[in-house]
Amino acid sequence: MLRFAVFGSPIVQSKSPVLHQAFATSVNKTLVYEKIEVKLGELKQALATFREQGGIGANVTVPLKVEAYELCDKLTEAARTAGAVNTLFWQHNEMWGDNTDGEGFIRDLINNLKLNLKDKRILILGAGGAARGILSPLLALSVKNIVIVNRTLLKAQSLANRDERIKAYSFDTFEAAAEAPFDLIINATSASLQEAVPPLAPHWVKGAIAIDLVYRLEQETVFMRWAHQQGATAVYDGLGMFVEQGALAFKRWFDVYPKTEEAMRTLRVK
Ligand code: NDP
Repeated sequence: MLRFAVFGSPIVQSKSPVLHQAFATSVNKTLVYEKIEVKLGELKQALATFREQGGIGANVTVPLKVEAYELCDKLTEAARTAGAVNTLFWQHNEMWGDNTDGEGFIRDLINNLKLNLKDKRILILGAGGAARGILSPLLALSVKNIVIVNRTLLKAQSLANRDERIKAYSFDTFEAAAEAPFDLIINATSASLQEAVPPLAPHWVKGAIAIDLVYRLEQETVFMRWAHQQGATAVYDGLGMFVEQGALAFKRWFDVYPKTEEAMRTLRVK
């Protein structure tokens, strides 16, 4: 049986096994896909054991994406740009790292949510791995500009150095208010996991589309509820991105694109 796994910590909540089983069924493949709890600093050993036991492909999630990036022998262009890896595969005994988060997010925006971002003003909350991964694919869609607001200003500033259309601010100052209004607000912080909403001025959200990269299958996230209350025109979660980034990883391993709509339905009812 072909063996796959997702590595991370905590990992118990991961829906990746359900997702990849649904993908495999959709294209008549069989696989074993496990969750493996691995703490920071322990990925190298965990991957060596996985390979010895016949593992042929893997996903990597919080907090291991940068550690995976540093361990890879070879990187795809997307992984190099993001500085983080979420998908591993092996070729000629060399470990390759890819990052499908950014392209997965864009596929969700365009194919599922039917958004056109040309000349749109984007606000990204957060400057961690997820923000880094979605930045270049968003710029490639000819957006007008991107404002990044992060708790730690330095991290936002280092991302803003990538392109003159990006500006960086911290939540502390509210200087970013001069940049409003925005067409699309992307919550790329992990605040929703702590049931917190980043300190945003409510009028930034009014009339904008709001997306939280976090998803909760059983209910809206706290950010989604807040965005609805402040008058966002549409509010989405990160499930579409999750499914699309997984589909791109699956394509890496099997060279076939799985059926994402069926997998999305499977996850929503789980
Ligand atoms: P990181 O740990 O790399 O970054 C976390 C970010 O959130 C940082 O910018 C951090 O700010 C900010 N942050 C954390 N807590 C708060 C808070 N209470 N208030 C304001 N800002 C806060 O995580 P990732 O970038 O990898 O992931 C971010 C989120 O996106 C995660 O919750 C993850 O679940 C989700 N995600 C979803 C995916 C999907 O497929 N749907 C794919 C990838 C990620 P600071 O820099 O100051 O610490």
